[in-house]
Amino acid sequence: MSGDGHFDRVALIGLGLIGSSLGHAMKRGGLAGEIVGSARSDATRARALEIGFIDRAETNAADAVKDADLVVLCTPVGAVGAVAQEIAPHLAKGAILTDVGSVKASLIDDVGPHVPDGVHFIPGHPIAGTEQSGPDAGFPELFDGRWCILTPLEGSDPDMVAKLSSFWEACGTKIDVMDAKHHDLVLAITSHLPHLIAYNIVGTADDLETVTKSEVIKYSAGGFRDFTRLAASDPTMWRDVCLNNREAILEMFGRFSEDLAAMQRAIRWGDGDALFDLFTRTRDIRRSIVDAGQEVAAPNFGRDPAKED
Ligand code: NAP
Repeated sequence: MSGDGHFDRVALIGLGLIGSSLGHAMKRGGLAGEIVGSARSDATRARALEIGFIDRAETNAADAVKDADLVVLCTPVGAVGAVAQEIAPHLAKGAILTDVGSVKASLIDDVGPHVPDGVHFIPGHPIAGTEQSGPDAGFPELFDGRWCILTPLEGSDPDMVAKLSSFWEACGTKIDVMDAKHHDLVLAITSHLPHLIAYNIVGTADDLETVTKSEVIKYSAGGFRDFTRLAASDPTMWRDVCLNNREAILEMFGRFSEDLAAMQRAIRWGDGDALFDLFTRTRDIRRSIVDAGQEVAAPNFGRDPAKED
């Protein structure tokens, strides 16, 4: 068993932003003897070969996983159950089966029952992404300095968890291990709610009658455009996140709505101290994120003011 993150044959099922970035990162680090890829469409598989982040493409996921010692499911969360069912009889004994899905508990319910004896199913989630999708969106540095959360099942072989951790570390990430339910709660507030709030505010602006669409676009540098980046994220992925992490998202929405009501009240009653205290506290959070190396300190998100409207 190697602790250097190297596998002889890696199968990537799904070749979009995350699958392609993983392919690039493996190529950069020389982490796989062979990378085999599969995706739904001919166009994606052909493009992946052309870009060169996979060595071989297979039309069927079942063919792609044959003799692979690492299989990574990189499809939207809603598709993993059917893919797991398709590949299960073809998985090699001793292989690690993992994934990159943004939701973990429901994914374990969908995939777990299909995993044959002798295959090590260790779910994972790299906390790295962009609003782009598809095989052209990936790049080798996507995971550098980011976290990858592994959510091993009860009874997972610690040696296999260590082996998968070494792989992700070689791709550039740091590793955290937690249980799936906790992952879903943490991600509900750090990722899911921010995206849903962004979808909502951009939708609201689009529906306004008193402010024109051209004004919203023209004056977007006032703050609105920072929400539009999140709200441009892949609709399939985010529909699946909502459907598969319903409880945790609704719990966080409950807290959010209470705090929003408190803010409305502070504004209504002119409670400047409450507003100032909150804005000071939140500014500190931003500083902590920069200090933790998860964001750059450059003003305006590092944008070039010369290119601003
Ligand atoms: P993406 O760019 O839209 O790519 C999805 C890929 O999955 C495409 O290659 C698609 O094939 C393929 N696919 C879809 N349904 C399939 C099926 N039934 N069988 C085989 N292949 C199928 O998505 P992504 O952003 O890489 O996201 C992939 C996963 O990563 C999701 O589970 C998401 O939750 C997770 N994730 C995303 C981010 C992010 O920021 N985007 C971050 C961390 C984790 P075609 O191209 O042929 O349609």
